[in-house]
Amino acid sequence: MPLLVKKVQVSPLHAPLYAPFRIATGQHDALENVLLRLELADGIVGFGEAAVATHITGETIARTTSNLKEAGAALIGEDIADYRALLYSFQERFDGNHAALAAFEMAVLDAFCRSMKIPLWRLFGARPAKLSTDITVVIGSLAEAQAWTKDFYTRGFRSFKVKVGREPELDVERVRIVAKCAPKASIILDANQAFTASGMLKFLKALKSHGICPVLLEQPVAKADWDGSRELTRVSGVLVCADESVGSLAAAVLALKTGAVNAVNIKLMKSGFLEGAAIARLAQARGAKLMMGAMMESALAITAGAHLAAGLGGFEFIDLDTTFFIKGPCARSPYLNAKGQFDLSQASAGIGVKVTPQS
Ligand SMILES: [Mg+2]
Repeated sequence: MPLLVKKVQVSPLHAPLYAPFRIATGQHDALENVLLRLELADGIVGFGEAAVATHITGETIARTTSNLKEAGAALIGEDIADYRALLYSFQERFDGNHAALAAFEMAVLDAFCRSMKIPLWRLFGARPAKLSTDITVVIGSLAEAQAWTKDFYTRGFRSFKVKVGREPELDVERVRIVAKCAPKASIILDANQAFTASGMLKFLKALKSHGICPVLLEQPVAKADWDGSRELTRVSGVLVCADESVGSLAAAVLALKTGAVNAVNIKLMKSGFLEGAAIARLAQARGAKLMMGAMMESALAITAGAHLAAGLGGFEFIDLDTTFFIKGPCARSPYLNAKGQFDLSQASAGIGVKVTPQS
């Protein structure tokens, strides 16, 4: 039976944050995303979200909105039953605008899975893995890091991802405070490209002198600095994870083949579902560790990312925590508890998150 698209709507998706989400290259003061809603001829709907992180990817809300409107217009009357062929045929429209690609794929897959009455994870695997997300400690004061860490450690979080790279000396102190307030937790560092390889090694040495050894370094050096990344992978003794440097299957092939990293952060907003799944399978085949990450995403996209990771399985690191920064209904996922654990085993059809388009 054909699943014909009848109607497509693109609208803003906005929400306030509890605290600015501050990293080495910039910050989000609010959630300002784009929502795609599509409706099939039989009334079934699907939702997709584009999380625009201009300070990281250079993408803009204006371009994401216009791309989604154009692609949406071209989607009317199309049959999504063969979703794979359909999505591949639309891929080129989103060159350089992968947040829009992610929203487009998300809405089509949500509607397809609702039509089939299966949860989204079922497209990627036989049973959903349980996932526990880390919580991010953003760049900020020592007092902020302390209060935030204590709060989330008390809630039950046992993995803390500390954003570093603006002021190394203060960063060392912040990591120390996190380690002190979360004694049984593991620590991930995310530098968002801010270090050189030697600077990162010096930073690790400073932490080691305080008895702190992170489990993973995310994007320690500039995304084009493959030599620096390879050096760290070889000598640091810590997992080195590509984030900004790997947004495509081609980049993943290069990074893994040359030994530049031994872990990869997969994000829907970087590569969508189809290519994201391909990157994950490639990384697994090469023995690299997997992280599932996100941009500043509401419960819709965060839960969609959890479906992908849970379906594929094998993700050792889950960084799907942005709903803990968001105020209001956009933060609610029915499958994520207050300790940061996702359980999709009882998920309803599609992504299973209720969305109310804002005017
Ligand atoms: Mg990152």
